[in-house]
Amino acid sequence: EATLPSLRPILKSSKLDDVCYDIRGPVLARAKQMEEDGHKIIKLNIGNLAPFGFEPPEEIVVDVIRNLREAGGYSDSKGLFSARKAVVHYTTQQKGIAGVDVEDVILGNGVSELIVMSLQALLEQGDEVLVPAPDYPLWTAEVSLSGGKPRHYLCDEASDWLPDLADIRKKVSPHTKAIVVINPNNPTGALYPREILEGIVQIAREHQLIVFADEIYDKMLYDGNTHTSIAALADDVLFITMNGLSKNYRACGYRAGWMVISGEKRHAADYIEGLNMLASMRLCSNVPGQMAIQTALGGYQSIQDLVAPQGRLTRQRDTAHALLSRIPGVSVMKAKATLYMFPRLDPKVYPIADDQEFILQLLEEEKVLLVQGTGFNWPQPDHFRMVFLPHVDDLHESIGRIERFLERYRRR
Ligand code: PLP
Repeated sequence: EATLPSLRPILKSSKLDDVCYDIRGPVLARAKQMEEDGHKIIKLNIGNLAPFGFEPPEEIVVDVIRNLREAGGYSDSKGLFSARKAVVHYTTQQKGIAGVDVEDVILGNGVSELIVMSLQALLEQGDEVLVPAPDYPLWTAEVSLSGGKPRHYLCDEASDWLPDLADIRKKVSPHTKAIVVINPNNPTGALYPREILEGIVQIAREHQLIVFADEIYDKMLYDGNTHTSIAALADDVLFITMNGLSKNYRACGYRAGWMVISGEKRHAADYIEGLNMLASMRLCSNVPGQMAIQTALGGYQSIQDLVAPQGRLTRQRDTAHALLSRIPGVSVMKAKATLYMFPRLDPKVYPIADDQEFILQLLEEEKVLLVQGTGFNWPQPDHFRMVFLPHVDDLHESIGRIERFLERYRRR
């Protein structure tokens, strides 16, 4: 279409120049187009449980419905007292994080909003934040949008995707303000043992870094694994721990998340004031969502049924792992937690130059949607992320299609 010469083009802000968020990027746009053209796409690209028949616990649904009439007004900007009190209880009693009070809890429209607030309140132009590679890309994107510089530390595939402490040390600079720890990890499915977390705490202590702990999958654990909150390991470092209802309670549409400020708070009064200011500026988070928090945390933990040895998620994880592992040139760690796997495609077998193009070809040819590894700030084009949310039979179908595509790719 011809643009009128008299109209000035409306440009996006240059603040977005370094911001990259591929999970919902061009490949997804193509998938939508294909759906509009009548194709049925198998979507293994995002961690949205609802379309696969996972439902929030009935009691929180009932609770929200029952309280909806009371949810018409704004709440306190940090959130409802009852919800924050339940978070305090969970944090201190179950996660072993000491010295937490209702005032240390801020509720948000999902962890996403809290990631945005916590970085906006902190960063000056050029400040650096250590972010894992691979990461949940909102962290990297938001560091950039807040004027900061993401520095990616490597997680080591050869050691079950644990953070490489030596690499973290190498990447600390005089500008480093904070380190992001995603545990359990999206996209790798890793779960960090205490020693690794202690190593990270030690680095944070030495360099006075804030630890941002994203623990949104802390109950989605397989094989009897247990989760250690990094904030439980020290009181002389500032921790911001984030969690919510999206995954453990399968209620991502409720937009209910929280962050807990703990540890060395005395030196952070000014930053905490900034967080409170941002919480006030958005008035409050979604109140019906807040109303589900107390019942969710105090109620029956139905996630346990899904991750039990014969639970639905466990069986799907086992199936996905077995089916992917038998494909030549594909290797993948069996997820210890979460709902993701991050398989590697041996570059000698699959010489991929551009992994977005690769994922697009898979979509066009087999109608399966994945996300390319570089979308998670992984430096090489040799991984992809897949959710194992479909039922076992459907996983056979979807991974069968991936296998067929890879077989053709090998013969190219
Ligand atoms: N953090 C991680 C590691 C995630 O995987 C997600 C969602 O997938 C989020 C945060 C955001 O979750 P929400 O905004 O729904 O709470």
